[in-house]
Formats: sequence, structure tokens, C-alpha cells
Amino acid sequence: MERYFPKAGNKLPLLDPAKENFWKFYAEPIDDFIAGASLLWEALDGLSYLATEDKVSEAQGRVIYEGLNELNDLKAPVSTPLRIDDDGGFVKGHHFPSLLSIYASMVEDDLASGRRVLICKECERPFVAANYKTTMYCSRRCRNTVSVREWRKKKKE
Ligand SMILES: [Zn+2]
Repeated sequence: MERYFPKAGNKLPLLDPAKENFWKFYAEPIDDFIAGASLLWEALDGLSYLATEDKVSEAQGRVIYEGLNELNDLKAPVSTPLRIDDDGGFVKGHHFPSLLSIYASMVEDDLASGRRVLICKECERPFVAANYKTTMYCSRRCRNTVSVREWRKKKKE
């Protein structure tokens, strides 16, 4: 924790990346981030079989299971401490030790709400979609790139 937030000292705030304070304190070493991002990519790649295959083979099932384990490992350090708010009410907080743990938790929320991980047919990056049976591209940009390529190909013929 101190490694990622060295300036926070012993006064670690409840970190929320949506708030400016998070970015004032966050300083995850880039090597750690790249290694962690690779793990997250592997996890998402493995989980993408759930959306793309109607029948999952035993080998694909193992890859999905490994992806799930990697995702769970990345979010394992996340905790939900109970806090008391200004009005004396209880509030469930979230304590994330790294940016990757936040991403892993976001993917967890997406998967638990019925979305699926897909691999973009154009850029081959993982993304999450609700309409996973019909969605093929991560963004309008990728979809447009393919459309323009196909249009040019037809024009040449
Ligand atoms: Zn893409």
C-alpha cells in the first residue's frame, strides 16, 4: 500500500479514483503496473471464452477458470470498511490498494450484472459489453475502421 501511495504516510485516505485526492497520492511503479496490467489482460482474455463460445470445451473451461482466478487474485486485497458519515449513519466504503484492484473490481461488477468480456475483432483488446452476442468491436472507432476498410475493398473490386 505504501508502495503505491508513498506520500500518504500513515494517513491513508479512503481512496476513490473519482476524487482528486486519489491522483495526488497515487504513485504505482510503472513496472508493477505493466506486470499487473498483463495479468488483468490474461484474466480478461480467458474470461472472453464465456461470451464467444456456445459450448465450452474442457481446455477452454480451464482457461476461463484460470482467468477467473487471476481476476479474483487482483481484487483480493480490496476491502469494504464500514464508516460513519457526517450524519452518524453507517456507510460501506471501498478500500483499493492499487489501480488494478479497482479495474478488477469494476470487471467483477460488470460480470456479476450480466455483461461479458469480449476481445475486439479489430484491435484485439479486451472490453466489456452487455450485448455480447452481437457486439464485435470495443469502440465506434474500431467499427468505423473495419467499415472503411471493407468499403475500400469493395470499391477496388
Ligand atoms: Zn477495438
